[in-house]
Amino acid sequence: MKLAFFGAEGKAGSAVVRRLEAEGHEVHGIELGDEPEVEGCDAAVDFTTPEAAPGNVRAALEQGVSCVVGTTGWEPSELGALAEEKGLRLFVAPNFSIGAVLMMRFAREAASHFPRAEIVELHNEAKKDAPSGTARATANLIGAETAIHSVRLPGLVAHQEVIFGGEGQLLTIRHDTTGRESFADGVLLALEKLPDLPPGLTLGLEAVL
Ligand code: NAP
Repeated sequence: MKLAFFGAEGKAGSAVVRRLEAEGHEVHGIELGDEPEVEGCDAAVDFTTPEAAPGNVRAALEQGVSCVVGTTGWEPSELGALAEEKGLRLFVAPNFSIGAVLMMRFAREAASHFPRAEIVELHNEAKKDAPSGTARATANLIGAETAIHSVRLPGLVAHQEVIFGGEGQLLTIRHDTTGRESFADGVLLALEKLPDLPPGLTLGLEAVL
């Protein structure tokens, strides 16, 4: 595929781009300050910032290009409606790592057997939004009362624990992302499934697994 990639030089973006190119995709990187010129691309991918992503997605949709977005901390529903109007796809996933998606699935299953749960999400200090999109998505699956604790420190990549408490027992479900290459599998899967999705907004990697 010919792909436009917003944030191709970022920490997540550069790891994903390496893998997309290794799989034979042609990637056209677009950085801050570049014209968001994506016409003729098969899809656009965005791993930028919550401030930049909506403008990038709008520009791509207005040029007739569907989008796969990893950027967290922004609200995609308005642009989902624009995508639907134009017969295009907007795929947004708070976490493109298959292990993290399985963690959420297992947490949802455990939730019906334990009275309470809390989430601890730990990320590198450079992450701009807190709580993480994955933590919020997990809390929504478990139930509205789930507290989220956010840790931002150097040395961390992306980690999450879901701790379930019951009478005389604890269950901890933990996922660790140790390298940003882990996000590439999910992006490749989303790009492959993009044409099969209904026009408009699709949220979460679960939808294409
Ligand atoms: P990062 O290293 O700061 O990368 C962001 C990149 O986007 C930088 O290269 C930045 O350029 C560029 N950028 C900023 N504004 C732009 C614009 N208007 N157009 C094009 N490029 C622009 O951050 P990161 O750790 O890679 O994370 C990026 C985003 O992805 C965050 O929202 C993070 O939460 C999310 N993320 C999601 C997943 C997932 O699985 N869904 C995984 C990892 C990260 P400058 O440096 O020049 O500002």
